[in-house]
Amino acid sequence: MKILVINAGSSSLKYQLMNPDTGDVFAKGLCERISIDGRLTHKVPDKDIKVVREIPMPTHSEAIQAVLEILLDPVNGVLSSIDEIDAVGHRVLHGGMEFVDSCIIDEDCKAAIRRCIPLGPLHNPANLMGIEACEAVMPGKPQVAVFDTAFHMTMPPKAYRYAIPTKYYEEDSLRRYGFHGTSHKFVARRAAELMGKKEFKMVNCHLGNGSSMAAILDGKCQDTTMGLSPLAGVPMGTRSGDIDPCVVQFVCNKYGMTVDQALNMLNKESGVKAISGVSSDFRDLEDGAAQGNENCKLALEKFAYECAKYVGAYTAALNGLDMLTFTAGVGENGPLTRAAICNYLSFMGVKLDPEANKVRGKECLISTPDSAVQVWVIPTNEELMIAQDTAALCEK
Ligand code: ADP
Repeated sequence: MKILVINAGSSSLKYQLMNPDTGDVFAKGLCERISIDGRLTHKVPDKDIKVVREIPMPTHSEAIQAVLEILLDPVNGVLSSIDEIDAVGHRVLHGGMEFVDSCIIDEDCKAAIRRCIPLGPLHNPANLMGIEACEAVMPGKPQVAVFDTAFHMTMPPKAYRYAIPTKYYEEDSLRRYGFHGTSHKFVARRAAELMGKKEFKMVNCHLGNGSSMAAILDGKCQDTTMGLSPLAGVPMGTRSGDIDPCVVQFVCNKYGMTVDQALNMLNKESGVKAISGVSSDFRDLEDGAAQGNENCKLALEKFAYECAKYVGAYTAALNGLDMLTFTAGVGENGPLTRAAICNYLSFMGVKLDPEANKVRGKECLISTPDSAVQVWVIPTNEELMIAQDTAALCEK
């Protein structure tokens, strides 16, 4: 099977053509500057092909058109006919309470994604544009929506309800949703294979530019750090993570900021970037810390501290812990951050193997045999999860 995986943003569109069974990537790339001018970067990993083309993309339709043309290109392409694409899988940010799983895209599904726009005002409209562009360019091709929130829909009310007046929940659907669900699901499935059983307690740390953690019982999410939006939880590259809402009131009053401007500051100008004053990139922070920059050290310490606190909280929520997993850019490639987090967890018998913890970007058990909790690095693959969900729904 060949599945085209699409992740459409407001001015960009990422794609991967892949085999859902093996994870092999036939081709992948990125359309940027949609509605501004348009640039396509296309790669064929097997053939070491990389093509960059300036192509006018007034809308997402021209972007998808450009993707199909390059996939069919006799020199740089990998397809001889569009018919070879079995189905298209779309990443959709917010499924609200409408979606507890991935779903085949039809008019009802699109209407429900549209109803979720107030919850995901930046992403859902772009995701819909990607879907509609594919419909226009490949009419009749089966399409599936895979939601970032769906995996978390198994949370119990005590985890997802906010302690605010009920009308905001009942009338406006304000509650914890959580994100990175596709990644948490992928890692939870792999973790079950590695454990050789389905019933166990795990915490998954998806630590990247955006970071979230999930408490997972028997493969089902019980709690997660992000909330109504991806701003909540641990501090991130440029996002503050959890914060007292009075900070918003204070900066609005003192600096004449609007709520949107204050939220922009919390989303784009905060996190480890703000504390370090150097960068949102953990490699830069590690370099800075190694050179004695105290602000970089504090940013890394703050990040590890907040992550460790959530592991503690989730161990209480799950009443125990069998497995701790690290994934995404920092989780997979950051031995220092992993060690700093696990250092706080020695009280509950977590013991890292310093040699094994040197691993970068590969699946590996990084705890010692006598550790009370197995600690693993499990590389995530959101595109493959989307391709697998898409294939499974289209085969039914
Ligand atoms: P996104 O949330 O944008 O998908 P990623 O999961 O790609 O982010 O993670 C990006 C982060 O991973 C960056 O902060 C980057 O510094 C970090 N990272 C990547 N490689 C390394 C490395 N070798 N050591 C430490 N951090 C790394």
